Amino acid sequence: MTNGGDVVLAVGAHPDDLECTCAGTLAALVQRGVEVHYAVATDGWCGSYELSGPEIAAVRLEEARRAAEIVGAASFIHLGMHDQGTETSIERRRELVNLIRRLKVTVLLGHAPNDYHVDHRNSSQLLFAARCAAGVPNFADEPPLERMPNLAFVDNEQGLDFEPHLWIDIGETIDVKRRMLAAHVSQVGLMRQMYDEDLLEMVERLCRYRGGQRGCEFAEAFRHCGSYPDPDGALRFLVRTVEG
Ligand SMILES: [Zn+2]
Repeated sequence: MTNGGDVVLAVGAHPDDLECTCAGTLAALVQRGVEVHYAVATDGWCGSYELSGPEIAAVRLEEARRAAEIVGAASFIHLGMHDQGTETSIERRRELVNLIRRLKVTVLLGHAPNDYHVDHRNSSQLLFAARCAAGVPNFADEPPLERMPNLAFVDNEQGLDFEPHLWIDIGETIDVKRRMLAAHVSQVGLMRQMYDEDLLEMVERLCRYRGGQRGCEFAEAFRHCGSYPDPDGALRFLVRTVEG
């Protein structure tokens, strides 16, 4: 058990993105006593052909809230945006900085800048900007953090153009990840409709692929953010905490 006072904030663009990319690792962190906060940038507004935006948004946020409960997250947060409506404005940055400061976040996990969806890309940009601003004076309302949080990028749905710097063995938590994914009933249905794809199978395929690279059955992949002042600090935290 090596917590060390770290606080993790994971930010997915859509309500099921953390499940697709890093839920097994989040579960492992929670099991080791780490405070993990689960955030989604958008509400799933575009997630149904049958329901209206407000109707499906309510459903999808509830599904994500349930998934956050399953993993044992300390809190569930919606950053207040709609699907296809993510913004990287100063106002959004200020809100996210206030959240990071209130929670005293030390480690941020989020999408890579080259991810496939504009909401993923915008969320990535917003998180990157908020990380830099978390410690600066005279910005936002909460007092600045003493240290800039470390940031790592999570994998994308198919592992495309994502050369991992780290693989975390999630053999012990794959079942938690499966249960979290299964909570996204509406999205499982939409994926069948849109892509004739089984969401659980798709995610498990990626975990097996990453596991094969690592030499274990199931793994999740991460990249460091490549930026000053501690480019791989979040990766070292994951290794130390999950596998140390
Ligand atoms: Zn997404």
